[in-house]
Amino acid sequence: MPFSSLGLPIFITKGLPAHDYEKPFPIQEQAIPAILEGRDLLGIAQTGSGKTASYVLPILSNLIGNMDPDSRHVNVLVLVPTRELAGQVADVFRSFSTNLPESVRTVSVFGGVSINPQMKSIRGVNVLVATPGRLIELESKNAVHLSTISTLVLDEADKMLNLGFKDEMTQIFNLLPKKRQNLLFSATLSDDVSAVNQLLLDNPVVVKIEGEKENLSLIKQVAYNVTEERKGPLLRYIIKNNNFKQVLVFTSSVFQADNVVDKLKSNGIEARAIHSKKSQGSRRESLIAFKQGKVNVLVSTDLLARGIDIENMPCVINYELPRSPKDYIHRIGRTGRAETPGDAISLITEEDKHHFRVIQKKMKRWVDMIESDGIDLHNY
Ligand code: AMP
Repeated sequence: MPFSSLGLPIFITKGLPAHDYEKPFPIQEQAIPAILEGRDLLGIAQTGSGKTASYVLPILSNLIGNMDPDSRHVNVLVLVPTRELAGQVADVFRSFSTNLPESVRTVSVFGGVSINPQMKSIRGVNVLVATPGRLIELESKNAVHLSTISTLVLDEADKMLNLGFKDEMTQIFNLLPKKRQNLLFSATLSDDVSAVNQLLLDNPVVVKIEGEKENLSLIKQVAYNVTEERKGPLLRYIIKNNNFKQVLVFTSSVFQADNVVDKLKSNGIEARAIHSKKSQGSRRESLIAFKQGKVNVLVSTDLLARGIDIENMPCVINYELPRSPKDYIHRIGRTGRAETPGDAISLITEEDKHHFRVIQKKMKRWVDMIESDGIDLHNY
């Protein structure tokens, strides 16, 4: 099904090829027509499903022709749990807002930074992407009025509730006009999310996109038995021999991430680390260089990788195993997306063996083990 048959206006569809959006992902097929019609929606979907564009495209379509040019009030409010997601969602709104018949301004606001520049930047904004705490602060300082919101989006609602934003969210809902469109996206349907769903949504269209477990069939998993000393050379052997152009490597610590990057670089492989000790700017820059193919390998820790848009990897390598099976599935779930097969490779030492068996049991899949003893790593 092409994008054009979902009811999106031509000013939106004509921009999609430039983003390499050839055809809609399943969540987009189901969500876009419903949102265009003004329906409320409950989307159970993970990052990587294409959920952001599933609401950004119809929201932008609905905004054009319906914004009051004299009003300085916000039309669309997107609540998100983290600063990282706020930046990403705002970027998606902005990237699809170029070449629209009317200008749509999007701003993101989040805590942990000075409030004053944000107070200035949100004047005259159409789409506001916010973390709940900072939004309350801005509202209490009269920097923003929420009484004209026509569409509310809760993105990663489960995470927002897990992070303890429940009270702030309720406070915000009370500031919104009664008549509005509500879109709720969550990776899981926990009791808390169900409660918010019942409170907010009016006869919603429900879209459920199967998560990572179901996608595991597209992932080719292998593991190498290796000693600690031979891990570095083996990693370089795997990358070079498979001619992998885009690899996401996971380590369990920031220190190890930097170490792996140093070794890769000194062996002629372009690599960057994107862990929590790197500045936001540096991470963003690395991510762009990676997406443009200037850097072949990104090395990350679990904590950071959760928040960033590095989906659809052709290859994920576990330099070290994560502690929980859930994290393992989450890591390898970054490959094998969007109906494209991917490789997930784990380097397993003697000490990891028991833990790796636990992971496989939880995952209900057995991974082929390759003995690396016989591989000549002298030149790596
Ligand atoms: P999300 O789940 O919103 O984080 O999106 C995951 C990734 O898929 C992002 O990099 C999007 O740019 C990309 N994406 C979303 N929809 C499409 C599409 N229809 N075609 C190609 N890429 C897409």
